Amino acid sequence: MQKLDDKIALVTGGSRGIGKSIALELAKLGAKVAINYHGSKDKAEAVADEIRGLGTEALVLQADVGDADSARNLVKQVIDQWGRVDVLVNNAGITRDTTFKKMTDEAWHEVINTNLNSVFYVTSAALPSMLENKFGRIINISSFVGQAGNFGQTNYAASKGAVIAFTKSLAKEVARNNITVNAVAPGFTATEMVAAIPEKVQEKILSTVPQNRFGEPEEVARGVAYLASDGDYITGQQLNINGGVYM
Ligand code: NAP
Repeated sequence: MQKLDDKIALVTGGSRGIGKSIALELAKLGAKVAINYHGSKDKAEAVADEIRGLGTEALVLQADVGDADSARNLVKQVIDQWGRVDVLVNNAGITRDTTFKKMTDEAWHEVINTNLNSVFYVTSAALPSMLENKFGRIINISSFVGQAGNFGQTNYAASKGAVIAFTKSLAKEVARNNITVNAVAPGFTATEMVAAIPEKVQEKILSTVPQNRFGEPEEVARGVAYLASDGDYITGQQLNINGGVYM
């Protein structure tokens, strides 16, 4: 892969799980990485230490990306510190699973705010700097659930499907400015998000995955790093990293 030396990356939800692996993968390629977290300060600091150990720089920034002011202030802090954003990974996400019959307004809005509105807030704050520098790599973490749907996840599926539609539309708007916008759609990946699913349900899920295993966060992260470093002619696409669960 091409190196990302001198590139500035921001990873939302970089304190653990897939976001942590993405932050480390970008750092391995030489990028300076701003790690956003919501509640896991210690974990975010540990990721930053690991990144500094790789010989590059890291910033740790608290923000609730589902809140417009907080999300925009997050981007401002990166630009104040490092001057611009080159690589933006909209990764922060949550689930609030329940059947539609039991879906509360709160569970709906929490997921839409954190998984979808955040992508609007953070991207709209970072885009002017990318337009000015005529360079940008925006990678939005969707999910195969946004493509296939899933029982008990109408809120989550709606947010992740919308992220794909957003990705394609923005990709068309900014393509001439050397800014690519892509979505990565993981399948079931071994993080706390999946660990929270009851074991019996996990077994059932595995039987639906052709490769018969959960993905590793590093496998998703390598796809993101590829789009950020070598994906110059790739835009508006969905990269499915899902063990075949959705084809
Ligand atoms: P995870 O282990 O639960 O980690 C979620 C991350 O998002 C944490 O870093 C968390 O920060 C951050 N976050 C949550 N709410 C936030 C908010 N309001 N503001 C800022 N950060 C926030 O989840 P994951 O499995 O790594 O998932 C990462 C992304 O991949 C999500 O978008 C998820 O939907 C997607 N995905 C996951 C899977 C899977 O099977 N795991 C499959 C498909 C797609 P704190 O730790 O500070 O709270």
